[in-house]
Amino acid sequence: MAKRVESPSSINTFKQCARKYYYQYIEKLPTYPSVHTVRGNIAHSCLEDFYDIDFSSFAPENYRQRSREALQKLLLHHWRAKAEELGKLNLTQDQLRFYFEETLLMLINWSNQFFEKLEENMQKKKISLQEAFTYLTPVREMEYVSDNYSVRGFIDAIQHVEDEVHIIDYKTNSNLEVKDSIRLQLAIYSLLYFEKHGKMPSKAGIFFLRHKLKLVQVDEELLKLAQREIQLIHAHTSITEAKEDYPKTITSLCRWNGGQCDFYEVCKPHG
Ligand code: SF4
Repeated sequence: MAKRVESPSSINTFKQCARKYYYQYIEKLPTYPSVHTVRGNIAHSCLEDFYDIDFSSFAPENYRQRSREALQKLLLHHWRAKAEELGKLNLTQDQLRFYFEETLLMLINWSNQFFEKLEENMQKKKISLQEAFTYLTPVREMEYVSDNYSVRGFIDAIQHVEDEVHIIDYKTNSNLEVKDSIRLQLAIYSLLYFEKHGKMPSKAGIFFLRHKLKLVQVDEELLKLAQREIQLIHAHTSITEAKEDYPKTITSLCRWNGGQCDFYEVCKPHG
């Protein structure tokens, strides 16, 4: 059986519940977007497009205000582009307004920290606003595909900081912990980066948009973690696609107050 192409999220799904992996990636049953996934995508699109703003017309005394206005316009644009998906979520107008405003607050929180870095660079390097903006513009939404590991993934932002490379993922999560699944995601990105460029990134991290950037050091140990987990999933999924070989892991992630696993009805974990 050919090796499947995995991703950080398919590997984390497998680790959380093999049966869930089976339904999603082998049987390919439909998944249902939630307001959290849709607005997460919207926030990502805003941050990706933010760096295409024409900063040359901004001046040090007005750039904060004008950047915030530009971010707000981007949010409106991407929110409207997802109107159909948002409409299918059966949310009230009040709930939609709440999520819109909450997303705007996250983007403003991110921008405040970006402005601090911008000014710090202007002062330290004695460069103009425009030059600092260009310097801080990361490589965005870069896809990495490894035939060797049979894994692919998109890195949200690759930032060059002095002589270091930082790889960054944005998250709108309310849980601000770098839990094991996030650590594994960062490990896989670091491995993909290392394989392609022949050099480890110095740090990898999550920008929690409700809070701040949290970075972890990239070292051999982190790359080994990624290699180990990739090997483990291939060792399983390349020898069997039989449902019974993908056992259920019944936890509070099957059903919780206000939500359930996308496959709850077909899986019937509680009989
Ligand atoms: S309902 Fe629970 S056991 Fe079933 S697939 Fe989902 S997470 Fe796994």
